[in-house]
Amino acid sequence: MMERFTGAFTQQEPIPEAGIEAAIAVMRGGRLHRYNTIGDEVAEVALLEQEFAAYTGAKFALAVASGGYALGAALRAVGVCAGDPVLTNAFTLAPVPGAIAAVGAVPVFVDVTRDLVIDLTHLERMIGETGARVLMLSHMRGHLCDMDALMAICDANGVQVIEDCAHTMGAAWNGVPSGRHGVIGCYSTQTYKHMNSGEGGFLISDDPEIMARAILLSGSYMLYDRHLAAPAPEVFEALRMETPNVSGRMDNLRAAILRPQLRDIETQVDRWNALYRTVEAGLENTPGLSIITRPPQERIVGSSIQFLLDGWDGDRVVEVINRCAARGVELKWFGAADPVAFTSRYQHWRYAPSQDLPQTDAVLAGLIDMRLPLTFNTEDCALIARIIRAEVSAVYQSA
Ligand SMILES: *Cc1c(COP(=O)(O)O)cnc(C)c1O
Repeated sequence: MMERFTGAFTQQEPIPEAGIEAAIAVMRGGRLHRYNTIGDEVAEVALLEQEFAAYTGAKFALAVASGGYALGAALRAVGVCAGDPVLTNAFTLAPVPGAIAAVGAVPVFVDVTRDLVIDLTHLERMIGETGARVLMLSHMRGHLCDMDALMAICDANGVQVIEDCAHTMGAAWNGVPSGRHGVIGCYSTQTYKHMNSGEGGFLISDDPEIMARAILLSGSYMLYDRHLAAPAPEVFEALRMETPNVSGRMDNLRAAILRPQLRDIETQVDRWNALYRTVEAGLENTPGLSIITRPPQERIVGSSIQFLLDGWDGDRVVEVINRCAARGVELKWFGAADPVAFTSRYQHWRYAPSQDLPQTDAVLAGLIDMRLPLTFNTEDCALIARIIRAEVSAVYQSA
């Protein structure tokens, strides 16, 4: 009998009861805006920022309306201007080049390696060719490059690093949390990421001026003294009249549902990794399929898994995807000619100058991606791996 999987790849867990109760309390009070406090009340958003700063080890944290907003604010806060080249990964998702284009800057793509990280040789070359002074580094699908080597290259060339940690909240390289290598780390708390407030995000930094600018940008209406994870008020003095307001604050309702999730995040990381390692083990030694090796320095958060069908024809990749879909397993392919839902690739972003990246094209042509929501358990993941293994083998052997 042919096994079928019946779970939903886009179904997240419910919000913890403590978050639901805290959200109801915020709504009962009516003070949803982060600066709407009475007496010596401290807003949920301010508490969340303090807790997120403590979790990541950053001096400062700011909660905002989305991960994409965090990326845009980060670019403005480090002083990126219209026309500036900004380096970023060719393998990422649309909000990343979108944030660069939205400030009028010019995305410059850097190749991806077969390990799904930024190609450091190509990075160095593109720094030289473009004179770019900012890298927006996307830890796409949770893969961390050799962060020590990357920072050495960027520091030697005076390139500031903004980390896009939309897929790496909870991850680390050599014990240093993702988001803590560059000058700013940006996170998303959108439904499909590691904490779920529908929409939302964070910026973290140790740099007082950069964080003061980000807070002013977010729309602090000179009420920055109500923050608990912000630089001292003096830092704002020189910046407060010359930093434009680009409103993108988080509200107390979202902060209320995020605070209990942040308390649970380490448990969630362990649960994700158990799912990831189950699928990985189930796919090992499948003919025609390459697993992505994860280096020992990397602490992963396995909320999704990728593998390569190296050198396969597009038609056969599509056949695997269709056969898996018929058995309830939803795979995404980064080699598709047209963007499909969240999955698109650098040639689809026509607002960026076109580049020819054969190495990236070869990797993306065989790259398969699958979500692992926490509504799955390890038995589900073992079944999913059996289905993928059977269908990949069947198509591979019929070649
Ligand atoms: C989701 C995502 C973002 C942006 O997050 P939003 O909250 O959706 O704006 C940025 N980068 C990557 C890689 C993402 O997947």
